[in-house]
Amino acid sequence: MAHEPLKGGFFPFVSLWENAFMAKRILRVLKWLGTTPAVAVCESCRQQFKAPMSVLTKTRDAQASLQQQFDTHKCAPATGATARE
Ligand SMILES: [Zn+2]
Repeated sequence: MAHEPLKGGFFPFVSLWENAFMAKRILRVLKWLGTTPAVAVCESCRQQFKAPMSVLTKTRDAQASLQQQFDTHKCAPATGATARE
């Protein structure tokens, strides 16, 4: 029997999304396209994440994409590029 691979919308993205807000690192959406999050930022390191064009028509896919980028990024404190301490 072929087991279906994970597809967009299969996993409970809502709980994943909420986890992002409960974690120490905070993912905040900067720009919405209607109800779809297009650009988000990590509140800790100010790194921005952009949902690819291909998922902007699907709110849950856009959320999942931003969530995944957020989960996999490494918080890097600004090394004097713009911020002064
Ligand atoms: Zn970060």
